[in-house]
Amino acid sequence: MHMLRMSPFFLMDYGAKVEFPPSVEPRGVGVHPHRGFETVTIAFQGSVAHHDSAGNSGVIGEGDVQWMTAGSGVLHKEYHDKEYSKKGGPFQMVQLWVNLPAKDKMTSPKYQGIKQEQMGHIDLEKGGRIDVIAGEINGVKGPAFTFTPIEMYKGELMAGDQFHFHLSANYNTGILVVEGELNVHGEERVSADHFVLFLNDGEEIALSSDSGAKFLVLSGEPIIENLVPYGPFLMNTKEEIMQAYADLNVGKFGVLED
Ligand code: MN
Repeated sequence: MHMLRMSPFFLMDYGAKVEFPPSVEPRGVGVHPHRGFETVTIAFQGSVAHHDSAGNSGVIGEGDVQWMTAGSGVLHKEYHDKEYSKKGGPFQMVQLWVNLPAKDKMTSPKYQGIKQEQMGHIDLEKGGRIDVIAGEINGVKGPAFTFTPIEMYKGELMAGDQFHFHLSANYNTGILVVEGELNVHGEERVSADHFVLFLNDGEEIALSSDSGAKFLVLSGEPIIENLVPYGPFLMNTKEEIMQAYADLNVGKFGVLED
């Protein structure tokens, strides 16, 4: 599929729910660089800690979101939270790579730790709810700052709940179902760990569930620019990729201990 088909979202790293046994050494990913985009981590189960060379750190747990703007460049590491590691338990997360437009690729690094209670909330009739991470639904706004127009919601429908909303037809839109079974437009049944990619041909989305479902809605205005992904970098040209490696090699991404 064309790499701009879900733009501004470039990559989705999703692991279906797993059960981690207790561990003394937290599992995770060691120090590595990024430039030219944002990493957005949504925790459905479990807890992760983040540290980066811009001096930001944070722990997110169930329901929370971490929105890191790598921009001009950071080193970061991502590990299971120590307390979570000690006990073990269910783990389910999504990490997205959200592209930045050329004019913002070299913006200063930034970190937004967004707790579930800081999100915009919409209560549904049968007890379900929608959490607005970014964008807005009927005046209910999400707290995340975004560089391009993005709508991002996570939701839980209880049996019999319905949720209708509108998105611009030119936005690229997808829904990841993480638990249960979701009915899309009353006909398509989508089970857990499946992703629905919408055509750019309408504005209304109608969701419902017979037995309950948890899901993530991603939608955004596409960034129509040349894109050169290479390793941990997402730039507009090959020259900018070379420059990223050159800058990394001379220490311009800062310092972060393992
Ligand atoms: Mn990373």
